[in-house]
Amino acid sequence: MPLARQPPMIVGNWKMHGVTADLAEMGVIARELLERPTSTEVVICPPATLLATASRCLDGTGIATGGQDCDAKDQGAHTGGVSAAMLVDAGARYVLLGHSERRRLDRETNVDVAAKAAAAFRAKLRPILCVGESAAQRQAGRTLAVLRRQVLRSCPPEAGAGRLTVAYEPVWAIGAGATPAPADIEAAHATIREALSRRYGDASASIRVLYGGSVDGANAPQLLQIAGVDGLLVGRASRRAVQFLPVVRAGETAPPPLDYLPTD
Ligand code: PEP
Repeated sequence: MPLARQPPMIVGNWKMHGVTADLAEMGVIARELLERPTSTEVVICPPATLLATASRCLDGTGIATGGQDCDAKDQGAHTGGVSAAMLVDAGARYVLLGHSERRRLDRETNVDVAAKAAAAFRAKLRPILCVGESAAQRQAGRTLAVLRRQVLRSCPPEAGAGRLTVAYEPVWAIGAGATPAPADIEAAHATIREALSRRYGDASASIRVLYGGSVDGANAPQLLQIAGVDGLLVGRASRRAVQFLPVVRAGETAPPPLDYLPTD
C-alpha cells in the first residue's frame, strides 16, 4: 500500500464549558474554514450534551467531533455512563481518553484507560489518548519513565494503530500559561514514539503524537516546529474562534510530517 502523508492534527477540548449558545463559536470556526479551507485535520471535543448538535452543525465542514471520555463497557447498568457506541451515534469520530483531569480527579488508572480505549476501538471510534507527567514527577527527574509506563500500560494491545492518536500533556503545563522547553518536548515525544514502537512495531508509524498544555495562537507555530510534534491539543484557547483559528492556521505552516501509513 502506498505511503500517505498525514497533516498536523489540531484538537480542541472544550472540557466542561459550553451550552447551546456557545455553538455559535463553532459556526464561526466552520464558516472561516469553509471560506479558506485548511490543510490541517481539525477536531472539536465539546461536552457530551452538545455533541449531537455540534456534529450536525459541523457535518460537511471537514471538522470532526469527539467525546471527552467514554465508558469501558459497551452498555449496561451504569447510571450516568456514556458508551463509545453512544458517542458514535451522536456523530463523534474521536474520543479523548486518559486526560490528566480524569486521571487525577476521577482516579482513572492506566488499566482503566486501556479498557476505555479498547471499548472505543470496538465501536470504531478513534481514541486520543493523553499521557503526561505531574510537577512532582518532573522535579524527581521521572518524566520519561512515567511517559514510557503510561504508554505501555494505557494503550491496549488490540489497537488498530492507525486509529490511535497519543497526546503528550505535561500535567503542570495544562492551563498554567507555561510550556516545557522545546528540547524537553522533543525528548518526551521521542520517548513516547519509542514506547509505541515497542507496543505496536512498524504499525506505530501511523500514530500521531500531539503536544498539549497552554497552547495558543502565539506559541503554536514554534511548538509545531519541534521534531516529533504531529499536532496540538488545545484547551482554553479552543473555545473562541478568534483564539482557535490562529492555532489551526499555524498547522498549515508546520514542516512536512514523516511518511505515515494510511489510517483507514
Ligand atoms: C487540556 O486540558 O487538554 C489543555 C491542553 O488545556 P490548556 O490548553 O488550557 O492548557
